[in-house]
Amino acid sequence: MTDILNCSYDELKTMMRDLGEPSFRADQVWQWLWQKGARSFDAMTNVSKATRASLAQRCAICLPAVEKVRVSSDGTTKFLLSLQDGELVETVLIPSESQDGKERMTQCLSSQVGCSMGCTFCATGKNGFTRNMTMAEILGQVLIAREYLQDSPENPRLRNLVFMGMGEPLLNLSEILRSLKTLHSEKGLNFSPRRITVSTCGVKNGLQQLGESGLAYLAVSLHAPNQELRRAIMPKAAAWPLEEMMDFLASYPLKARERLTFEYLLLGGVNDSPAHARELAKLMSRLKAKLNLIVYNPVEGSPYAAPDPQRVLEFERLLWSKNITAVLRKSKGQDIKAACGQLRAEKLRSI
Ligand code: SF4
Repeated sequence: MTDILNCSYDELKTMMRDLGEPSFRADQVWQWLWQKGARSFDAMTNVSKATRASLAQRCAICLPAVEKVRVSSDGTTKFLLSLQDGELVETVLIPSESQDGKERMTQCLSSQVGCSMGCTFCATGKNGFTRNMTMAEILGQVLIAREYLQDSPENPRLRNLVFMGMGEPLLNLSEILRSLKTLHSEKGLNFSPRRITVSTCGVKNGLQQLGESGLAYLAVSLHAPNQELRRAIMPKAAAWPLEEMMDFLASYPLKARERLTFEYLLLGGVNDSPAHARELAKLMSRLKAKLNLIVYNPVEGSPYAAPDPQRVLEFERLLWSKNITAVLRKSKGQDIKAACGQLRAEKLRSI
């Protein structure tokens, strides 16, 4: 049985043609799936009964099941989802205010079950890699979150997507590219590339292809200003030497007004000294880029501590003094274990 949510638009068109249907029928089914959130073929009321029956014989609509929802006092909402084979992934809705003062939601999406990168500060990395997620599973997270938000008219709209959840997206590149194309479809979910960011530790082949595709903005997890420290914190990512990665990124294809984003997690006493800030400023100085500073929130069993708040401010101030745009991001959802992989790890421990 085919999961119809795993079909690209072109694949759906071919399937409908094979069923002897006119091409507009594919558009109708596509809209039911991605715009109207149909959970069954029977719901597709402008499609003939016979066609709905043929589709139901060949295909299923498989959405992840919601295992748990936790809502933080700051509005951050975390979902633990179970996939068809029982594997668990997480997705998070993060509220924020846009420049026009309206509330909006950003969704953090997972791309793999587990992760092979083994970053030393990450709960997902600790549990290792299980498998890649399919396009249907990746976008199933969006459908679930959109449905959840639509339940109440007071909820803000889902505005931005970031591939920053479980997994290294560029190690699941083909499904990520398929997902991005489906996300952009005007007849479907209709997200523009400006509203989607793919975050990576740095995977050279994947970066090349993502850049050429122009399908999303890019964020790179740096977390250290030199190769030695990066190797200690992110051993697998550091297989691509930092200087080489920065050289590569200097010619990364950017859209008009786009800047690269770097993510830097401040770990207490590890990478948060004034000397690190100066080194980081030098590293970034030749790139058209901005920096998100994230304050580490210690999790159970972690070898790291939160940075001293004064040191964080000094770090940020030093970067600005060197003309680096640095934005201090507040950690959200601390009361619901919103950091990547924490809820899944908790569930796995309880099984
Ligand atoms: Fe994987 Fe991201 Fe965690 Fe690193 S931080 S182990 S890339 S999920």
